[in-house]
Amino acid sequence: MSGLVSVIIPAYNEQESLAVFLPKLVAELKKTGSYEIIVINDGSSDQTAETVLKFHKENPSVNLVSLSRNFGAQAALCAGYREARGDCVISMDADMQHPISALSKMLDQWRQGYDIVCAIRRRSNHLGLFKRISAGLFYCLFKSLTGLKSDMGADFRLMSRSAVNALNQFSETPVFLRGLVSRLGFRQCTVYYDENKRQYGGPSRYTLKKMLNLALTGILGFSLKPLHLIFLFGLLMMGTGIIALCAVIAMFFIYHEITMANVLLSTLITFSGIQVLILGIIGEYVGNIVMTVKKRPLYLIEKNTLRKD
Ligand code: UDP
Ligand code: MG
Repeated sequence: MSGLVSVIIPAYNEQESLAVFLPKLVAELKKTGSYEIIVINDGSSDQTAETVLKFHKENPSVNLVSLSRNFGAQAALCAGYREARGDCVISMDADMQHPISALSKMLDQWRQGYDIVCAIRRRSNHLGLFKRISAGLFYCLFKSLTGLKSDMGADFRLMSRSAVNALNQFSETPVFLRGLVSRLGFRQCTVYYDENKRQYGGPSRYTLKKMLNLALTGILGFSLKPLHLIFLFGLLMMGTGIIALCAVIAMFFIYHEITMANVLLSTLITFSGIQVLILGIIGEYVGNIVMTVKKRPLYLIEKNTLRKD
């Protein structure tokens, strides 16, 4: 399989990285055949746009899509998936942490018929201890809450045209691409890479706040388990209160004695439980509303002989 290869790159204040990265990427892609590179400038305040435009003048295959302000890397990637025209679309970071050398492996898998090739980073000492621990904890929590088994990498992946078309049918906001992609179906596989160190332009553009937001988006968008847990907790609390209340009443009939503190405590637990349970019930309805307003497609088509495309 061959055809146009699109590479989409979200970039936020990455002028220094892009100046080094783009020539290397172009040299690699020239080996594979026809290609287009789309840099999505996510409201950078440095010379990111000017840097890309300079390349565009010399080589029209290098393109720029500038967003009106900083929308975050997930939104920038979505813009890239919608603008890309390739038969396959590769997303990678601008900071060269995703090695260009992994592209040929990913393209090989696509040529063998895979629709989604996720690149997963091997254990890396370049990553700070905090990033490694926080990412590990998040994926552990995410997997246990959503039941998704597949490994999720950073947003370094290749997707075939059919998979991109399927992804573009999702219009939910905020978006958590890793979750959506692992739920798309299609033929998926993984390749492994060693992550490079971030060399240019200072620290990661993902601030702690952006990272926490992304983690929350992932969990809230893909799991209603926190709501189910509230419901169960309410049920458990109400049950405990009722048992305690029954014990107090039994003590009254057996020993003819009653302690006000016990009565108050068990009543308090029962009614607190009822309140949490009611919250849980409301939560279940809210959960249904959340899933409905996302308007996720009911199904996705992988192959259809009725259509030519
Ligand atoms: N990025 C972006 N918008 C943002 C933050 C990041 O487009 O608001 C881009 C950034 O330029 C880079 C990619 O997303 O190309 C990944 O960001 P970064 O390397 O800072 O994240 P990390 O590698 O630390 O996860
Ligand atoms: Mg990075």
